[in-house]
Amino acid sequence: MSKEIIHKQVVILGSGPAGLTAAIYASRANLSPLVVEGPEPGGQLMITTDVDNYPGFAKGILGPELMEQFREQARRFGTEFLMSWVINADLSQRPFTLETEDHEIKADTLIIASGASAKWLGIPGEAPTPQGFGGNGVSACATCDGFFFKGKPLVVVGGGDTAMEEATFLTKFATGVTVIHRRDTLRASKIMQDKAFRNEKIDFIWDTGVEEILGAKETGVTGVRLRNLKTQKERLFPTEGVFVAIGHKPNTDLFKGQLEMDEVGYIKTRERSTATNIPGVFACGDAQDSVYRQAVTAAGTGCMAAIDAEHFLDHHPIDAEKVKAEPELATK
Ligand code: NDP
Repeated sequence: MSKEIIHKQVVILGSGPAGLTAAIYASRANLSPLVVEGPEPGGQLMITTDVDNYPGFAKGILGPELMEQFREQARRFGTEFLMSWVINADLSQRPFTLETEDHEIKADTLIIASGASAKWLGIPGEAPTPQGFGGNGVSACATCDGFFFKGKPLVVVGGGDTAMEEATFLTKFATGVTVIHRRDTLRASKIMQDKAFRNEKIDFIWDTGVEEILGAKETGVTGVRLRNLKTQKERLFPTEGVFVAIGHKPNTDLFKGQLEMDEVGYIKTRERSTATNIPGVFACGDAQDSVYRQAVTAAGTGCMAAIDAEHFLDHHPIDAEKVKAEPELATK
């Protein structure tokens, strides 16, 4: 069966704060963007509860509710949405092509806002299922959820900068934070290590893996089962919350080999712009930002990407009919 062909001036991949802000701006610029969203529409805010740090909501707002507002705003100006998993991307010529199971999407400009996903341990008790504590005692975002653990002892898993930053931040709320790391030296930068070592509310358990998160529906998390990776000895460690801080992975595998990325997979953009190494392809939000990773900064770069795409189209329009007849025109 042949695939349905869709051709748009602006295609936005991803529907978190970056993608939807790009959609609001592109649709207000009369570019009728198409947002292609995968299995996690709305992005990481859909798995948080109260969002207290998004400006404009003095009393806070629930993550999913905030994303619904973004979506409605984008729709109001004519954004279209397609829920489909992109299986292939060809950025070798304009219009660029994204392929899904049922569609071939042609894009005069492409805005990549595919976000990042926290890495998880993959252990029992971690997932957001009825049997697990994900979103209810287990989190991967101290800035989002730390406040809910006021007066509780907490565990942070990981030994990198994120783990040190999360642990330090969580001491504002927790009675104490225990960092559990699988080796006996940290990966974190010296300055972040020193800060954590100096903090009297942070303890460390070395050479240790977390094997299971324990608790019950009524009590929430009550502890973790640990294994010393040198002696293989197991023990239970009491805690009321677990923050997994073993890194994030940008969702950019689709573009490997086509777009310049850093070693982790964050898409490289030019300074003070969202332009990638391919003219007409822009990247924003957590797919491109390894430093700030906040909803408001993602929204900011989404806005930049839409403005960059609009300017690009002004100078590099594609005549859709001519391109159909002579595809090489698109690259001129
Ligand atoms: P990193 O990859 O640097 O560190 C991940 C940590 O998690 C490592 O200590 C690693 O252990 C551990 N880990 C990974 N997988 C597992 C697992 N399955 N089980 C147990 N432990 C595991 O990720 P970060 O998110 O910490 O940092 C990513 C990048 O962002 C870095 O470049 C960092 O410098 C930067 N960053 C900078 C910040 C700042 O400057 N303010 C703040 C946060 C991040 P091991 O060490 O054994 O590999």
